[in-house]
Amino acid sequence: MRTFEEMLKDGFLDRIIYNDSGARHYKKDDNEAKNCDYELCKKCGGKCCRLCGCEFSPDDFSDLSFEGLLKEIEKGYITLELVDGDQFYIAGWIWHVRMRNADQPIVVMPGTPNSKKGCIALKEDGCVFDYKHRPASGRLLIPARDERYFHWECHTDYGTREALLEWKAHQKVLHDLAKFVGDKNYPCTI
Ligand code: SF4
Ligand code: SF4
Repeated sequence: MRTFEEMLKDGFLDRIIYNDSGARHYKKDDNEAKNCDYELCKKCGGKCCRLCGCEFSPDDFSDLSFEGLLKEIEKGYITLELVDGDQFYIAGWIWHVRMRNADQPIVVMPGTPNSKKGCIALKEDGCVFDYKHRPASGRLLIPARDERYFHWECHTDYGTREALLEWKAHQKVLHDLAKFVGDKNYPCTI
């Protein structure tokens, strides 16, 4: 597998043509009482969070400029990930922003092995963020309501496809950030 530096050197990122059209915005129902079942998630122990960090929406950031996003990325809890949109029925390569996994770098490229540790914000007693400060897909993750179906029946109203469609409008800034931070490793400070 090629490293990020090798991919940068052979111009992989520069050959990608981004198409920002088709970006969407999703209205989010931030109703904690409706969306959460803390007892059930506690019993489950966060199986979803152990698989992968959840998705941010552009709405989660007050400043979407290069400098504004960089300030958050430098805290070490965010990953910029490039995915092949075909997997989600969207044309082209698309950058999106999600919580970092404990064993993954700041920039995740196609071919990076799946995480074995899961989200960097998942601690012994659950997520370090309170409800209103969680990324959009974490806030909108509706538990199965039945512990026999942990994980398989839990769903989020804001998944990777929705995130890709929202982040489509911000590809240039994410591309520039990925090139800037790709060889850096900020320790997580949250
Ligand atoms: S949402 Fe589902 S998989 Fe995630 S912690 Fe809650 S019960 Fe477990
Ligand atoms: S930020 Fe919180 S809710 Fe989201 S994956 Fe991490 S531990 Fe789970």
